[in-house]
Amino acid sequence: MSKVLVLNASYEPLNITSWRRAVVLIIKGKAERIEHNGKLVYADLPLPTVIRLRHYVRVPYKEIPLTRRNLLHRDAHTCQYCGYAGDGLTLDHVLPRSRGGGDTWENMVAACVRCNVKKGNRTPKEANMPLQSPPRRPYSSLYFEVSRQVRSGIHQEWRKYVIGT
Ligand SMILES: [Zn+2]
Repeated sequence: MSKVLVLNASYEPLNITSWRRAVVLIIKGKAERIEHNGKLVYADLPLPTVIRLRHYVRVPYKEIPLTRRNLLHRDAHTCQYCGYAGDGLTLDHVLPRSRGGGDTWENMVAACVRCNVKKGNRTPKEANMPLQSPPRRPYSSLYFEVSRQVRSGIHQEWRKYVIGT
């Protein structure tokens, strides 16, 4: 509750900060309040839960390791073909490895065993198994932290700022 999501001027999530720091940024005019929870910190100052910086901050992209765990988290532990959510998920190469498909964020998705076997050595189009959403590289390592918090039920108001949660 005391955590605040900081958005870049572009509305991309930038980091997570304390409400105290967020309030200071607002008072100094460096950030604007996007969401609040209605509680007042001071008179006329509701407690922010999402703020946005007025000036764009360039952040070097921090690589997120392409691991099974991270891929499953990105795909919400859900088969990207049929929507099955549960244990025993596999990783599927959208363009099969045997046909030149690489180990990349854009070419790997969570799939249940059934869909993985059914798809076999074909593309989603050939197999007539459309993906629920195009796989993409996570925007930032913050993405993982934010989406975990959203999924665990904390900070639902952050959801709309994080694509893919
Ligand atoms: Zn499936």
